[in-house]
Amino acid sequence: MTAHAIRMTTTGGPEVLEYAAIDVPDPRPGEAVVEVYASGVNFIDTYHRSGLYEVPLPFTPGSEGAGVVTAVGSDVNEVAVGDRVAWVGVAGSYATRVVANAGMLMNVPDDIELGVAAAIPLQAMTAHYLISDTYPLGPGDTCLVHAAAGGTGRLIVQMAKLRGAQVVATAGSEEKLEIARNGGADHAINYRESNIVEAVEAAVGKDAIDAVYDGVGAATFDAGLAVLRPRGVMATFGNASGAVPPVSPLALMPKSLFLARPSLFSHMLTAEERVARWNEIISWVQAGELEIRVGHTWSLADAGVAHTALESRATTGKLLLTEGG
Ligand code: NDP
Repeated sequence: MTAHAIRMTTTGGPEVLEYAAIDVPDPRPGEAVVEVYASGVNFIDTYHRSGLYEVPLPFTPGSEGAGVVTAVGSDVNEVAVGDRVAWVGVAGSYATRVVANAGMLMNVPDDIELGVAAAIPLQAMTAHYLISDTYPLGPGDTCLVHAAAGGTGRLIVQMAKLRGAQVVATAGSEEKLEIARNGGADHAINYRESNIVEAVEAAVGKDAIDAVYDGVGAATFDAGLAVLRPRGVMATFGNASGAVPPVSPLALMPKSLFLARPSLFSHMLTAEERVARWNEIISWVQAGELEIRVGHTWSLADAGVAHTALESRATTGKLLLTEGG
């Protein structure tokens, strides 16, 4: 069976992403073939493309999407042909068909469109573990969320509010601040115009932040340490502005801070854990408590355009690729 996919034979800029015809192998035992309705674009895909995170070449980026199962191998009990499914952690998802370990596929209820389902797994499950496990937020807590109009950031804002916490959000433009406020942020700071530490202290006071959720990295890390309360938690979970340089443990000593550098894949180690996160997120979406905001959809062939937009801070919400565009 043939399909189309994005391929890269070298690392580099968005121009290394090429649209190509591929052969889709028959599913082996435990595998399923899925016709991809939409693939999620995530910042990690740009790290794979640029070489910041090493990948074997040639390589098809993408690890997330939603679609319909078209074939299953032997020993597959999790899904059947015709099932609507979503996933994260399936390599080569920038494609019109993907062969997946059937155990990675999560059921999509009939009342959730596939174009919405594709936008959920990676970023929403990340937001979920950050606010549930890295620092479990509750009423009385105050958190700082950077890039709060972005795909992951706005979901953290919404989930923090669902847990009853106060949220201080940062973003890079007035339009983005409004998107963060619409997500529930109590305070919104334009960190391109204001000093983060001064603005956070003006909003909630000195040393008042219980947890910092920082996907921006190099540009915001030091400010995050400065606004945390004693024994607060710095969760640095991404590198949108560049990787955080090495940190001395002594930098944490004055306030006895905790430093975490978590990733999603350590937070879905078993099918039970992955499905429990998915089910709670889906129940919020079905109840209208969590808005999944798709900022832009490109055709699969325009994956490089999507990467350029994401890396140039031009986007908000979730970014998707579909064959039709
Ligand atoms: P976003 O949709 O949040 O886009 C990135 C945003 O980062 C931009 O829109 C921009 O918002 C902000 N930003 C700040 N500085 C820069 C810069 N120099 N270059 C580009 N963007 C910048 O992307 P994602 O939601 O996909 O990912 C957000 C972060 O979360 C990434 O670092 C990603 O690696 C990380 N992540 C980590 C996971 C984990 O488990 N560890 C899982 C998922 C994501 P603004 O204009 O408002 O500054």
